[in-house]
Amino acid sequence: MRDPFSGTPLIVGAVQTQLSDYWDGIPAVGTVARARLYPGAEVEHPEVSLPKLALGATGVIELAWPFCPHCGHKLAKWGVNPRTLILDKGHAPAVNGIQRYRCEVHGEISVDLGAWVPNGATYADNFRRRACRLVGHGHTPADVREIFLDCYDRSPSVSSIRTWAREAAIEAGAVIRTTSIPTSGFFGYDEIHLRVNGQKGYALTMADLHTGFCPPADYSPSINRSAVKAYFNGIKHVLVDPMAGLVVDGAINFGDLFRTRGFDQITVQRCQTHYKKNLNEKIYEAAGMGKKLKDPLPPPYDRVKRELFVPFKRSTGLRAEIQLVVADGRLRGKVSPAVDALLDDLVAHAPALFQYHYETRLQRTNNRDECWNSELERYPSLKTRMKTAAGVRRVLDAATFLHNWDAFTAYIKEMEAKNEKLRAFVKQDPRNADLKPELQGATVHLRYVRQWQARYAEVYNRHYMILQDPY
Ligand SMILES: [Zn+2]
Repeated sequence: MRDPFSGTPLIVGAVQTQLSDYWDGIPAVGTVARARLYPGAEVEHPEVSLPKLALGATGVIELAWPFCPHCGHKLAKWGVNPRTLILDKGHAPAVNGIQRYRCEVHGEISVDLGAWVPNGATYADNFRRRACRLVGHGHTPADVREIFLDCYDRSPSVSSIRTWAREAAIEAGAVIRTTSIPTSGFFGYDEIHLRVNGQKGYALTMADLHTGFCPPADYSPSINRSAVKAYFNGIKHVLVDPMAGLVVDGAINFGDLFRTRGFDQITVQRCQTHYKKNLNEKIYEAAGMGKKLKDPLPPPYDRVKRELFVPFKRSTGLRAEIQLVVADGRLRGKVSPAVDALLDDLVAHAPALFQYHYETRLQRTNNRDECWNSELERYPSLKTRMKTAAGVRRVLDAATFLHNWDAFTAYIKEMEAKNEKLRAFVKQDPRNADLKPELQGATVHLRYVRQWQARYAEVYNRHYMILQDPY
Protein backbone atom coordinates (compact mmCIF):
# COMPACT_ATOMS: atom_id res chain seq x y z
CA MET A 1 0.00 0.00 0.00
CA ARG A 2 1.23 3.42 -0.86
CA ASP A 3 1.49 6.18 1.71
CA PRO A 4 -1.81 8.03 1.29
CA PHE A 5 -0.14 11.35 1.90
CA SER A 6 2.54 11.07 -0.75
CA GLY A 7 2.59 13.75 -3.38
CA THR A 8 1.14 11.83 -6.30
CA PRO A 9 -2.64 11.23 -6.51
CA LEU A 10 -3.94 7.86 -5.33
CA ILE A 11 -6.38 5.91 -7.43
CA VAL A 12 -9.47 5.48 -5.26
CA GLY A 13 -10.03 1.77 -5.30
CA ALA A 14 -12.47 1.19 -2.51
CA VAL A 15 -14.32 4.32 -1.63
CA GLN A 16 -16.37 3.01 1.28
CA THR A 17 -13.37 2.35 3.47
CA GLN A 18 -10.99 4.36 5.55
CA LEU A 19 -8.54 6.49 3.69
CA SER A 20 -5.72 4.23 4.85
CA ASP A 21 -7.39 1.31 3.13
CA TYR A 22 -7.24 2.85 -0.32
CA TRP A 23 -5.26 0.57 -2.53
CA ASP A 24 -3.13 1.73 -5.29
CA GLY A 25 -4.22 0.69 -8.75
CA ILE A 26 -7.24 -1.46 -7.96
CA PRO A 27 -9.87 -0.75 -10.63
CA ALA A 28 -12.70 -1.36 -8.19
CA VAL A 29 -14.88 1.71 -8.60
CA GLY A 30 -14.42 1.64 -12.36
CA THR A 31 -17.73 0.42 -13.70
CA VAL A 32 -20.04 2.37 -11.46
CA ALA A 33 -17.91 5.46 -11.47
CA ARG A 34 -17.93 5.44 -15.23
CA ALA A 35 -21.69 5.66 -15.41
CA ARG A 36 -21.86 8.18 -12.58
CA LEU A 37 -19.13 10.43 -13.79
CA TYR A 38 -20.31 10.67 -17.34
CA PRO A 39 -24.04 10.12 -17.24
CA GLY A 40 -25.54 9.54 -20.67
CA ALA A 41 -22.26 10.13 -22.46
CA GLU A 42 -21.25 7.77 -25.22
CA VAL A 43 -17.67 7.33 -24.25
CA GLU A 44 -15.19 5.97 -26.75
CA HIS A 45 -11.95 6.78 -25.01
CA PRO A 46 -10.17 3.73 -23.63
CA GLU A 47 -8.97 5.62 -20.56
CA VAL A 48 -12.53 5.95 -19.40
CA SER A 49 -12.79 2.26 -18.51
CA LEU A 50 -9.95 2.75 -16.06
CA PRO A 51 -10.53 3.99 -12.49
CA LYS A 52 -12.06 7.44 -12.51
CA LEU A 53 -11.39 9.08 -9.21
CA ALA A 54 -8.21 10.00 -7.48
CA LEU A 55 -7.64 11.52 -4.09
CA GLY A 56 -4.88 14.07 -4.11
CA ALA A 57 -2.52 14.77 -1.24
CA THR A 58 -4.56 17.85 -0.29
CA GLY A 59 -7.73 15.76 0.12
CA VAL A 60 -9.30 16.91 -3.13
CA ILE A 61 -11.09 14.32 -5.28
CA GLU A 62 -9.87 14.58 -8.83
CA LEU A 63 -10.47 12.76 -12.07
CA ALA A 64 -7.75 10.17 -12.57
CA TRP A 65 -7.92 10.88 -16.28
CA PRO A 66 -8.87 14.49 -16.76
CA PHE A 67 -10.08 14.33 -20.35
CA CYS A 68 -13.37 15.61 -21.73
CA PRO A 69 -15.87 12.74 -22.09
CA HIS A 70 -17.28 14.39 -25.21
CA CYS A 71 -14.23 15.36 -27.21
CA GLY A 72 -11.24 13.94 -25.40
CA HIS A 73 -9.53 17.29 -24.83
CA LYS A 74 -7.48 17.55 -21.68
CA LEU A 75 -9.55 19.32 -19.03
CA ALA A 76 -8.36 22.42 -17.23
CA LYS A 77 -8.67 22.65 -13.44
CA TRP A 78 -11.31 25.18 -12.47
CA GLY A 79 -11.28 25.73 -8.74
CA VAL A 80 -12.28 23.39 -5.93
CA ASN A 81 -15.71 22.85 -4.34
CA PRO A 82 -15.31 22.28 -0.60
CA ARG A 83 -17.16 19.15 0.46
CA THR A 84 -17.35 16.75 3.41
CA LEU A 85 -18.40 13.17 2.74
CA ILE A 86 -19.52 10.70 5.38
CA LEU A 87 -19.80 7.39 3.62
CA ASP A 88 -21.82 4.38 4.67
CA LYS A 89 -21.07 2.91 8.10
CA GLY A 90 -19.47 6.16 9.15
CA HIS A 91 -16.40 5.92 6.97
CA ALA A 92 -15.08 9.37 6.40
CA PRO A 93 -12.32 9.66 3.83
CA ALA A 94 -10.12 12.69 4.34
CA VAL A 95 -11.91 14.55 1.59
CA ASN A 96 -11.76 18.31 1.70
CA GLY A 97 -13.24 19.08 -1.65
CA ILE A 98 -13.92 18.17 -5.24
CA GLN A 99 -11.86 19.43 -8.15
CA ARG A 100 -13.83 21.34 -10.80
CA TYR A 101 -12.91 20.93 -14.48
CA ARG A 102 -13.53 22.76 -17.68
CA CYS A 103 -13.26 21.70 -21.31
CA GLU A 104 -12.43 24.56 -23.62
CA VAL A 105 -15.13 23.36 -26.04
CA HIS A 106 -17.79 21.88 -23.74
CA GLY A 107 -17.57 24.05 -20.66
CA GLU A 108 -17.64 22.70 -17.11
CA ILE A 109 -17.53 18.92 -16.72
CA SER A 110 -18.96 17.99 -13.34
CA VAL A 111 -17.58 15.29 -11.09
CA ASP A 112 -20.58 13.31 -9.85
CA LEU A 113 -20.19 11.55 -6.49
CA GLY A 114 -23.85 10.61 -6.33
CA ALA A 115 -22.94 6.93 -6.15
CA TRP A 116 -21.69 7.49 -2.61
CA VAL A 117 -23.35 10.54 -1.16
CA PRO A 118 -26.45 12.24 -2.59
CA ASN A 119 -25.73 15.51 -4.35
CA GLY A 120 -25.55 18.36 -1.87
CA ALA A 121 -25.62 16.03 1.15
CA THR A 122 -22.94 15.10 3.66
CA TYR A 123 -24.11 11.63 4.67
CA ALA A 124 -24.36 8.56 2.47
CA ASP A 125 -27.97 7.75 1.65
CA ASN A 126 -27.69 4.57 3.72
CA PHE A 127 -27.67 6.73 6.88
CA ARG A 128 -31.20 7.81 5.96
CA ARG A 129 -32.26 4.28 5.08
CA ARG A 130 -30.78 2.78 8.23
CA ALA A 131 -32.45 5.51 10.29
CA CYS A 132 -35.86 4.70 8.74
CA ARG A 133 -35.37 0.99 9.45
CA LEU A 134 -34.24 1.57 13.02
CA VAL A 135 -37.23 3.79 13.79
CA GLY A 136 -39.56 1.30 12.09
CA HIS A 137 -38.07 -1.44 14.25
CA GLY A 138 -38.81 0.38 17.48
CA HIS A 139 -36.09 2.97 18.16
CA THR A 140 -36.83 6.64 18.73
CA PRO A 141 -34.93 9.22 16.61
CA ALA A 142 -32.87 10.18 19.67
CA ASP A 143 -31.96 6.51 20.21
CA VAL A 144 -31.02 6.16 16.55
CA ARG A 145 -28.55 9.01 16.90
CA GLU A 146 -26.97 7.22 19.88
CA ILE A 147 -26.84 3.98 17.91
CA PHE A 148 -25.10 5.68 14.99
CA LEU A 149 -22.61 7.30 17.36
CA ASP A 150 -21.95 3.96 19.08
CA CYS A 151 -21.52 2.10 15.80
CA TYR A 152 -20.02 4.64 13.43
CA ASP A 153 -18.68 7.45 15.65
CA ARG A 154 -20.81 9.99 13.78
CA SER A 155 -24.46 10.68 13.18
CA PRO A 156 -26.84 13.03 11.44
CA SER A 157 -28.92 15.22 13.77
CA VAL A 158 -31.99 13.94 15.61
CA SER A 159 -34.15 16.30 13.56
CA SER A 160 -32.79 14.90 10.28
CA ILE A 161 -33.48 11.39 11.52
CA ARG A 162 -36.99 12.37 12.60
CA THR A 163 -37.75 14.01 9.26
CA TRP A 164 -36.53 10.99 7.30
CA ALA A 165 -38.45 8.52 9.42
CA ARG A 166 -41.63 10.60 9.26
CA GLU A 167 -41.48 10.89 5.49
CA ALA A 168 -40.96 7.13 5.10
CA ALA A 169 -43.75 6.29 7.58
CA ILE A 170 -46.24 8.54 5.77
CA GLU A 171 -45.54 6.81 2.46
CA ALA A 172 -45.56 3.39 4.15
CA GLY A 173 -48.93 4.21 5.75
CA ALA A 174 -50.45 5.05 2.37
CA VAL A 175 -49.25 1.74 0.94
CA ILE A 176 -50.41 -0.54 3.77
CA ARG A 177 -53.88 1.08 3.70
CA THR A 178 -54.39 0.58 -0.03
CA THR A 179 -52.58 -2.66 -0.83
CA SER A 180 -54.03 -6.14 -0.40
CA ILE A 181 -52.21 -8.68 1.76
CA PRO A 182 -52.66 -12.46 1.71
CA THR A 183 -55.08 -13.22 4.52
CA SER A 184 -56.75 -16.36 5.79
CA GLY A 185 -59.91 -14.66 7.05
CA PHE A 186 -58.96 -15.61 10.64
CA PHE A 187 -57.42 -13.00 12.90
CA GLY A 188 -56.50 -12.11 16.41
CA TYR A 189 -57.84 -8.72 17.53
CA ASP A 190 -56.70 -6.64 20.51
CA GLU A 191 -56.17 -3.10 21.77
CA ILE A 192 -53.12 -1.38 23.21
CA HIS A 193 -53.94 1.18 25.90
CA LEU A 194 -52.20 4.48 25.28
CA ARG A 195 -51.83 7.93 26.72
CA VAL A 196 -51.47 10.48 23.95
CA ASN A 197 -50.56 13.95 25.15
CA GLY A 198 -51.94 12.94 28.55
CA GLN A 199 -55.28 11.76 27.15
CA LYS A 200 -56.50 8.17 26.98
CA GLY A 201 -56.36 6.51 23.59
CA TYR A 202 -56.19 3.09 21.97
CA ALA A 203 -54.32 1.34 19.23
CA LEU A 204 -56.54 -1.27 17.60
CA THR A 205 -54.52 -4.12 16.15
CA MET A 206 -55.05 -7.32 14.20
CA ALA A 207 -52.82 -10.19 13.17
CA ASP A 208 -53.63 -12.95 10.72
CA LEU A 209 -53.60 -16.32 12.48
CA HIS A 210 -52.12 -18.19 9.51
CA THR A 211 -50.39 -16.09 6.84
CA GLY A 212 -48.08 -13.99 9.06
CA PHE A 213 -49.46 -10.66 7.78
CA CYS A 214 -50.90 -7.84 9.86
CA PRO A 215 -53.63 -5.52 8.61
CA PRO A 216 -52.89 -1.85 9.38
CA ALA A 217 -53.42 -0.93 13.03
CA ASP A 218 -55.37 2.18 13.85
CA TYR A 219 -55.70 4.77 16.58
CA SER A 220 -58.98 5.59 18.33
CA PRO A 221 -59.53 8.05 21.20
CA SER A 222 -62.22 5.74 22.62
CA ILE A 223 -62.98 2.06 22.59
CA ASN A 224 -66.47 0.69 22.07
CA ARG A 225 -68.62 -1.12 19.54
CA SER A 226 -68.64 1.70 17.00
CA ALA A 227 -64.86 2.30 17.20
CA VAL A 228 -64.23 -1.39 16.50
CA LYS A 229 -66.79 -1.39 13.71
CA ALA A 230 -65.14 1.63 12.10
CA TYR A 231 -61.74 -0.09 12.39
CA PHE A 232 -62.95 -3.32 10.78
CA ASN A 233 -64.67 -1.38 7.99
CA GLY A 234 -61.54 0.69 7.43
CA ILE A 235 -59.28 -2.30 6.77
CA LYS A 236 -61.81 -4.45 4.88
CA HIS A 237 -60.45 -3.64 1.45
CA VAL A 238 -56.89 -4.85 2.15
CA LEU A 239 -58.18 -8.31 3.16
CA VAL A 240 -58.53 -10.72 0.25
CA ASP A 241 -61.52 -12.51 1.77
CA PRO A 242 -64.08 -11.17 4.24
CA MET A 243 -63.30 -11.74 7.91
CA ALA A 244 -64.49 -15.20 8.90
CA GLY A 245 -63.16 -15.64 12.42
CA LEU A 246 -61.75 -13.56 15.23
CA VAL A 247 -59.97 -14.31 18.49
CA VAL A 248 -60.69 -11.57 21.03
CA ASP A 249 -59.70 -11.20 24.65
CA GLY A 250 -63.15 -9.99 25.62
CA ALA A 251 -62.04 -6.93 27.58
CA ILE A 252 -64.31 -4.63 25.59
CA ASN A 253 -68.00 -4.88 24.96
CA PHE A 254 -68.66 -5.58 21.28
CA GLY A 255 -72.41 -5.25 21.89
CA ASP A 256 -74.41 -6.72 19.05
CA LEU A 257 -71.60 -6.14 16.53
CA PHE A 258 -71.29 -9.80 15.57
CA ARG A 259 -75.02 -10.00 14.96
CA THR A 260 -74.97 -6.93 12.69
CA ARG A 261 -75.13 -7.29 8.91
CA GLY A 262 -71.68 -7.51 7.42
CA PHE A 263 -70.26 -8.87 10.70
CA ASP A 264 -72.61 -11.79 11.40
CA GLN A 265 -70.46 -14.18 9.35
CA ILE A 266 -67.61 -13.76 11.85
CA THR A 267 -67.09 -16.65 14.26
CA VAL A 268 -65.71 -15.43 17.57
CA GLN A 269 -63.34 -17.24 19.90
CA ARG A 270 -62.75 -15.70 23.29
CA CYS A 271 -59.17 -15.95 24.46
CA GLN A 272 -59.04 -18.71 27.07
CA THR A 273 -55.95 -17.31 28.76
CA HIS A 274 -57.73 -14.05 29.56
CA TYR A 275 -60.90 -15.75 30.65
CA LYS A 276 -59.09 -18.20 32.93
CA LYS A 277 -57.07 -15.42 34.50
CA ASN A 278 -60.26 -13.49 35.32
CA LEU A 279 -62.01 -16.62 36.49
CA ASN A 280 -59.14 -17.48 38.81
CA GLU A 281 -59.23 -13.98 40.32
CA LYS A 282 -62.98 -14.19 40.84
CA ILE A 283 -62.66 -17.57 42.59
CA TYR A 284 -60.09 -16.06 44.97
CA GLU A 285 -62.42 -13.13 45.56
CA ALA A 286 -65.36 -15.50 46.26
CA ALA A 287 -63.12 -17.37 48.71
CA GLY A 288 -62.38 -14.11 50.51
CA MET A 289 -58.70 -14.31 49.49
CA GLY A 290 -58.70 -11.01 47.57
CA LYS A 291 -55.45 -10.58 45.66
CA LYS A 292 -53.45 -13.36 47.36
CA LEU A 293 -53.32 -15.33 44.11
CA LYS A 294 -50.13 -17.17 45.11
CA ASP A 295 -51.69 -18.74 48.22
CA PRO A 296 -53.50 -22.11 48.03
CA LEU A 297 -57.30 -21.93 48.01
CA PRO A 298 -59.11 -23.26 51.08
CA PRO A 299 -61.81 -25.91 50.62
CA PRO A 300 -64.30 -25.96 49.05
CA TYR A 301 -62.82 -23.33 46.71
CA ASP A 302 -59.92 -25.54 45.69
CA ARG A 303 -62.52 -27.94 44.33
CA VAL A 304 -64.50 -25.07 42.72
CA LYS A 305 -61.42 -24.06 40.79
CA ARG A 306 -60.66 -27.63 39.73
CA GLU A 307 -64.20 -28.20 38.48
CA LEU A 308 -64.44 -24.90 36.63
CA PHE A 309 -61.08 -25.35 34.90
CA VAL A 310 -61.66 -28.93 33.70
CA PRO A 311 -63.75 -27.95 30.62
CA PHE A 312 -60.74 -26.01 29.28
CA LYS A 313 -58.68 -29.20 29.25
CA ARG A 314 -61.08 -31.26 27.13
CA SER A 315 -60.06 -32.22 23.60
CA THR A 316 -63.41 -31.68 21.86
CA GLY A 317 -66.20 -29.14 22.10
CA LEU A 318 -68.69 -31.79 23.11
CA ARG A 319 -66.49 -33.03 25.95
CA ALA A 320 -65.96 -29.48 27.15
CA GLU A 321 -69.71 -28.89 27.23
CA ILE A 322 -70.38 -32.16 29.04
CA GLN A 323 -67.76 -31.23 31.62
CA LEU A 324 -69.45 -27.89 32.08
CA VAL A 325 -72.77 -29.62 32.78
CA VAL A 326 -70.99 -31.90 35.28
CA ALA A 327 -69.44 -28.89 37.05
CA ASP A 328 -72.82 -27.15 37.11
CA GLY A 329 -74.41 -30.21 38.72
CA ARG A 330 -71.70 -30.50 41.33
CA LEU A 331 -71.43 -26.84 42.32
CA ARG A 332 -74.68 -24.96 41.66
CA GLY A 333 -76.49 -24.03 44.85
CA LYS A 334 -73.92 -25.85 46.95
CA VAL A 335 -71.19 -23.30 47.64
CA SER A 336 -72.30 -19.68 47.39
CA PRO A 337 -74.23 -17.26 45.16
CA ALA A 338 -70.87 -15.93 43.94
CA VAL A 339 -69.91 -19.36 42.62
CA ASP A 340 -73.35 -19.69 40.99
CA ALA A 341 -72.67 -16.38 39.23
CA LEU A 342 -69.33 -17.75 37.97
CA LEU A 343 -71.19 -20.78 36.60
CA ASP A 344 -73.72 -18.51 34.88
CA ASP A 345 -70.90 -16.52 33.28
CA LEU A 346 -69.07 -19.63 32.15
CA VAL A 347 -72.23 -21.13 30.64
CA ALA A 348 -73.01 -17.86 28.87
CA HIS A 349 -69.53 -17.63 27.37
CA ALA A 350 -69.06 -21.33 26.64
CA PRO A 351 -69.90 -21.06 22.89
CA ALA A 352 -67.19 -18.41 22.38
CA LEU A 353 -64.70 -20.09 24.72
CA PHE A 354 -64.88 -23.48 22.97
CA GLN A 355 -65.49 -22.24 19.43
CA TYR A 356 -62.02 -23.31 18.27
CA HIS A 357 -63.02 -26.96 18.69
CA TYR A 358 -65.60 -26.48 15.93
CA GLU A 359 -63.77 -23.93 13.75
CA THR A 360 -60.25 -25.26 13.82
CA ARG A 361 -58.84 -22.29 11.92
CA LEU A 362 -59.40 -20.27 15.09
CA GLN A 363 -57.02 -20.49 18.04
CA ARG A 364 -57.63 -21.07 21.72
CA THR A 365 -55.76 -17.95 22.82
CA ASN A 366 -54.95 -14.53 21.44
CA ASN A 367 -51.20 -15.15 21.48
CA ARG A 368 -50.74 -14.22 17.85
CA ASP A 369 -52.02 -10.68 18.21
CA GLU A 370 -50.37 -10.26 21.61
CA CYS A 371 -46.99 -11.04 20.05
CA TRP A 372 -47.75 -8.48 17.38
CA ASN A 373 -48.61 -5.94 20.08
CA SER A 374 -45.34 -6.48 21.87
CA GLU A 375 -43.58 -5.93 18.55
CA LEU A 376 -45.40 -2.57 18.25
CA GLU A 377 -44.71 -1.72 21.89
CA ARG A 378 -40.98 -1.99 21.35
CA TYR A 379 -41.23 1.66 20.35
CA PRO A 380 -40.63 3.03 23.84
CA SER A 381 -42.70 6.20 23.45
CA LEU A 382 -45.76 4.50 22.01
CA LYS A 383 -47.69 3.73 25.18
CA THR A 384 -47.43 6.97 27.11
CA ARG A 385 -45.24 9.58 25.47
CA MET A 386 -46.70 10.25 22.03
CA LYS A 387 -47.92 13.79 21.41
CA THR A 388 -50.42 13.33 18.59
CA ALA A 389 -52.69 10.71 17.05
CA ALA A 390 -50.85 11.23 13.75
CA GLY A 391 -47.57 10.38 15.51
CA VAL A 392 -49.10 7.18 16.91
CA ARG A 393 -50.27 6.21 13.43
CA ARG A 394 -46.82 6.79 11.95
CA VAL A 395 -45.20 4.50 14.53
CA LEU A 396 -47.82 1.81 13.89
CA ASP A 397 -47.61 2.22 10.10
CA ALA A 398 -43.83 1.96 9.79
CA ALA A 399 -43.78 -1.14 12.02
CA THR A 400 -46.64 -2.74 10.07
CA PHE A 401 -45.00 -1.96 6.76
CA LEU A 402 -41.68 -3.57 7.73
CA HIS A 403 -43.48 -6.53 9.32
CA ASN A 404 -45.52 -7.16 6.18
CA TRP A 405 -42.50 -6.67 3.97
CA ASP A 406 -40.80 -9.58 5.73
CA ALA A 407 -44.06 -11.54 5.61
CA PHE A 408 -44.21 -11.09 1.82
CA THR A 409 -40.70 -12.47 1.43
CA ALA A 410 -41.47 -15.53 3.57
CA TYR A 411 -44.92 -16.08 2.06
CA ILE A 412 -43.74 -15.91 -1.55
CA LYS A 413 -40.91 -18.32 -0.83
CA GLU A 414 -43.37 -20.75 0.73
CA MET A 415 -45.83 -20.40 -2.18
CA GLU A 416 -43.06 -20.95 -4.72
CA ALA A 417 -42.02 -24.17 -3.01
CA LYS A 418 -45.64 -25.31 -2.91
CA ASN A 419 -46.16 -24.56 -6.61
CA GLU A 420 -42.94 -26.35 -7.44
CA LYS A 421 -44.29 -29.44 -5.69
CA LEU A 422 -47.64 -29.17 -7.45
CA ARG A 423 -45.91 -28.88 -10.80
CA ALA A 424 -43.93 -32.04 -10.07
CA PHE A 425 -47.15 -33.87 -9.13
CA VAL A 426 -48.84 -32.75 -12.35
CA LYS A 427 -45.88 -34.05 -14.32
CA GLN A 428 -46.03 -37.44 -12.58
CA ASP A 429 -49.79 -37.72 -12.89
CA PRO A 430 -50.88 -35.67 -15.93
CA ARG A 431 -54.38 -37.16 -16.00
CA ASN A 432 -55.24 -36.21 -12.42
CA ALA A 433 -58.15 -33.79 -12.90
CA ASP A 434 -57.78 -32.17 -9.48
CA LEU A 435 -54.17 -31.14 -9.71
CA LYS A 436 -54.25 -28.87 -12.75
CA PRO A 437 -56.88 -26.41 -11.50
CA GLU A 438 -55.11 -26.40 -8.15
CA LEU A 439 -51.84 -25.47 -9.81
CA GLN A 440 -53.54 -22.84 -11.97
CA GLY A 441 -55.21 -21.32 -8.92
CA ALA A 442 -51.94 -21.24 -6.99
CA THR A 443 -50.10 -19.68 -9.93
CA VAL A 444 -52.70 -16.92 -10.30
CA HIS A 445 -52.62 -16.28 -6.54
CA LEU A 446 -48.83 -15.99 -6.56
CA ARG A 447 -49.04 -13.53 -9.45
CA TYR A 448 -51.39 -11.32 -7.43
CA VAL A 449 -49.21 -11.55 -4.33
CA ARG A 450 -46.19 -10.44 -6.36
CA GLN A 451 -48.16 -7.43 -7.58
CA TRP A 452 -49.01 -6.46 -4.01
CA GLN A 453 -45.42 -6.90 -2.97
CA ALA A 454 -44.34 -4.71 -5.89
CA ARG A 455 -46.47 -1.87 -4.47
CA TYR A 456 -44.71 -2.27 -1.12
CA ALA A 457 -41.39 -2.41 -2.97
CA GLU A 458 -41.84 1.11 -4.37
CA VAL A 459 -41.67 2.51 -0.84
CA TYR A 460 -39.27 -0.12 0.50
CA ASN A 461 -36.69 0.54 -2.21
CA ARG A 462 -36.93 4.27 -1.70
CA HIS A 463 -36.72 4.38 2.09
CA TYR A 464 -35.81 1.08 3.73
CA MET A 465 -33.56 -0.89 1.40
CA ILE A 466 -29.86 -0.75 2.29
CA LEU A 467 -27.86 0.11 -0.81
CA GLN A 468 -24.88 -2.04 -1.64
CA ASP A 469 -21.45 -0.53 -1.97
CA PRO A 470 -21.29 0.99 -5.45
CA TYR A 471 -18.68 -1.21 -6.97
ZN1 LIG B 1 -14.99 18.65 -24.58
